[in-house]
Amino acid sequence: MIYKFDFYPYQRRFRQPLKTSHGIWKTRAGINFSLTNEMDKIGWGEIAPLPWFGSESLEQALTLCQQFGARVTDEDITQIPQELSACQFGFGSALEDLSSRVENKDKNLSYSYLLPTGEAGLEACQQILQRENLGRSPTTFKWKIGVSSIEEEVKIFTRLIKILPIGGKLRLDANGGLNLPEAKKWLELADRVGTIEFIEQPLSPECFDLMLNLSADYATAIALDESVATVRQLEDCYYQGWKGIYVIKPAIAGFPQHLRRFCREHSIDAVFSSVFETKVGRKAVLNLAAELSNRDRAVGFGVNDWFENEL
Ligand code: MG
Repeated sequence: MIYKFDFYPYQRRFRQPLKTSHGIWKTRAGINFSLTNEMDKIGWGEIAPLPWFGSESLEQALTLCQQFGARVTDEDITQIPQELSACQFGFGSALEDLSSRVENKDKNLSYSYLLPTGEAGLEACQQILQRENLGRSPTTFKWKIGVSSIEEEVKIFTRLIKILPIGGKLRLDANGGLNLPEAKKWLELADRVGTIEFIEQPLSPECFDLMLNLSADYATAIALDESVATVRQLEDCYYQGWKGIYVIKPAIAGFPQHLRRFCREHSIDAVFSSVFETKVGRKAVLNLAAELSNRDRAVGFGVNDWFENEL
């Protein structure tokens, strides 16, 4: 099959920059595109790279789109190399959109709200609770750690857990930015507090064995995120014995068909998460999440507050 190919690079500034242990992120840039088949039916796709997470860069994605030119074939798509994992996702999901794969309308997914880093997280948490009228319902929030000193972050954390509603849960995301003593300190604290759903990627991906040990030593669960950016890395960690949680960002994981196959064949505790896609990628990712994620856990898509406008 040959498709007409049109692509549209975009840029969206965050309302406030996102601070993680990888640095400061101010603008989300990506590419939306359409594939039109011989019957003039259109399928939409999005390429939303996250290079500091191990995906290709926006420039590499743009080069591929330019090389494709005005026409793309199924074979071109199959041959996208696995280094271009965000491109693989974009084209794979555009084909699914084109073939009108049955959409799961009854998503009924609960969202985890991403709070701003540092002290700003306290006010944001209160605002979300008031606005969404969530005061009495169990809600999930996520807060970044490993950005300032641990002493400073623990002080803010102690205030943050007091704001959480009864039954509310908090995820702490270190983005691989802690050292081993800091990771142990956070896990001890989380075990004492009891409302921490999990600590996400406490150490860098090279420290897989240490994280495996930590997951056996503490009651608080550990989730891998940076370690499992692509389906191939997901498989590696699974076969190396990871029994904890897997945060999956489908938009950079590779072909959705591969992710679907892996999740169906292996029983893993998966939390699906956003990479700040526009509504094109979001729709594709939420469809996958509705199909494959663990329904006892909120999906990491409470990120609308991070942009001025819907796109
Ligand atoms: Mg994370």
